[in-house]
Amino acid sequence: MAQVSEQEVLEALSRVVDEEKNQDIVSLGMVTGLQVKQGHVAFALQVEPERGPRLEPLRKTAEQTVHALPGVLTATVVLTAERQAESKPAPQAHGHGHKDEPLLPQVRAIVAVASGKGGVGKSTTAVNLALALAVRGLKVGVLDADIYGPSIPRMLGIKGQPTSSDGKSINPMRNHGVECMSIGFLVEEEMPIIWRGPMVMSALEQMMKDVRWSPLDIMVVDMPPGTGDAQLTMAQRVPLIGAVIVSTPQDIALADARKGLNMFRKVNVPVLGIVENMSYFACPHCGERTDIFSHGGARAEAELLGVDCLGEVPLDIVIRETSDGGNPIVVSDPSSPHAKAYLDIADKVWVKVEAELAERERAAPRILVQ
Ligand code: ADP
Repeated sequence: MAQVSEQEVLEALSRVVDEEKNQDIVSLGMVTGLQVKQGHVAFALQVEPERGPRLEPLRKTAEQTVHALPGVLTATVVLTAERQAESKPAPQAHGHGHKDEPLLPQVRAIVAVASGKGGVGKSTTAVNLALALAVRGLKVGVLDADIYGPSIPRMLGIKGQPTSSDGKSINPMRNHGVECMSIGFLVEEEMPIIWRGPMVMSALEQMMKDVRWSPLDIMVVDMPPGTGDAQLTMAQRVPLIGAVIVSTPQDIALADARKGLNMFRKVNVPVLGIVENMSYFACPHCGERTDIFSHGGARAEAELLGVDCLGEVPLDIVIRETSDGGNPIVVSDPSSPHAKAYLDIADKVWVKVEAELAERERAAPRILVQ
């Protein structure tokens, strides 16, 4: 079957009308970050934040319209909030670190994975998200900044210590096609907590400045859980393009997700969406699904908060065994429904990241010196 072109997608979308504005979504400039790759189409619809919760039907129509085109295998459409001009963050030029020195200039986008509290599956989500982005052909790094339980190396099946070729810089570690560096390698676990604060900040800086990261499309940062000062400072130190919040259904009810959202809004980092982890129980014996914690809370809560629900991941022993065993489900069983859930989340995240990058370019065009 002939493959669909960008032009054909835009043509079809120019027949989708935003009823509130009585104009089509292409003329309104709402379609951003359009990607058409071998029959897989993805883009973001940029909308004013206050209209976000009402526009789910429009998102769906756009998705169905594209999906109906001949040659389209999958269509992923996400809503993304257009930031008001006055609240636009100062162009970060890849970092608001120290003075003129740009942090991680070789990394196109840095995304934080955060949670209101520990044990909700933040690291598991970060690792599977990173691997899913790599499956899509992107160059990916994982920066493990979770001081309370640096578990990324174990989940990526990485053993040993990082090496240095010149005694000054650190080589990132690598497995399953992604690069990784963990704060666990730099800060002793037994270190008293009172010394940890400053140590952690300098270790974080070291992970951005002294690690020889390759040129990367995206870096996934596993943040420490919680929404206190330590997390806020970290969110400010790392030049983030956006944040993904992981929550379990019961925490959503406890408004932990809301706290996470507010923390990132405080430092002007867009929240790309919420992932509902341990959303429902998938029985390993009979395959039956049980909604232990009234699943679907994330979707409803996200709607209330005006952010997207990026996906729902079930509570399944396979997810635990594979990630704790260093072979996360996305690589150990890529065709499983769970891997598919993470791939869908990754697609949505990447569309949003592309839209944010485009927005940033518009706000501060990069000057190329030839
Ligand atoms: P956090 O980073 O939020 O502290 P982790 O990602 O370390 O949480 O997860 C805590 C434990 O729960 C780990 O043993 C992990 O394998 C397990 N886990 C996470 N998500 C799931 C899931 N969807 N199904 C089953 N076990 C999970």
